[in-house]
Amino acid sequence: MHDRRRTFQWDANDYYSVTYARGCPKHCAFCSNHLVQGRRFRTASLGAIENALALLRNELVTDRESGLASAAVHFNFEDDNLLIDYPLFRDAIELCRRYFPGASFSAENGLDYTLLTAGMIDDLVSIGFTQFNLSLVTVDHEISRDLDRPRALEHFQKMVRFAAAKKIPVIAYFIAGLKGDTRERLVETLGFLAALPVRIGFHPFTPCPAPLVLKTGVFSPNGRRGFPWGRRSTHGPDRSRPRRSRPRFV
Ligand code: SF4
Repeated sequence: MHDRRRTFQWDANDYYSVTYARGCPKHCAFCSNHLVQGRRFRTASLGAIENALALLRNELVTDRESGLASAAVHFNFEDDNLLIDYPLFRDAIELCRRYFPGASFSAENGLDYTLLTAGMIDDLVSIGFTQFNLSLVTVDHEISRDLDRPRALEHFQKMVRFAAAKKIPVIAYFIAGLKGDTRERLVETLGFLAALPVRIGFHPFTPCPAPLVLKTGVFSPNGRRGFPWGRRSTHGPDRSRPRRSRPRFV
């Protein structure tokens, strides 16, 4: 919440992308978050969030007087795992509401569906959540197990139906091209999502770290070839190949 630049204006809203936390302790193998943010979950203090909101409100008052800002504000949380500390998330939203009564909210992939409950959905809708973005990733048991990605399909269905019954749109994301993926497995995931009241969000698998991929040219120029899972890992250097010795300087 330190950068107060408006992301964009949309539907008569000033739209802000915000984040107050870093790090996720989970180990989903396809996720590169830990390379940048680390695995330890830590957050800005409520005092720091409040200071940022106070500054933003002051700036908006001036902008509105000059006709540069809309009357309504939307906050979109970009944090990676907001539900690790739900009470804090709730406190952060309350602060936003105190400084911006009538603000609406959404979150990108930070609503980990395995931690989401019907009570949380109820609560979030009552305080202004306008959409839920949930990452299913895959329905396949083996792929999920191999990638250390928790999977709870029945719970996912329940949460989606619960949100839809409240007339709140849900986007459900899946990833194509994971290790072990096949057309049949993708069709299974798509079939599962097609039976639910969701918009389906497609996410092609993006191997990280990117420099390794670019340097080794594992993608064909026409984009038809996927990540060669049998030969490379996203977990670190490829140990199956002899290591090049480093030049020595004397
Ligand atoms: S829960 Fe999300 S942020 Fe955490 S490791 Fe898995 S994909 Fe990454």
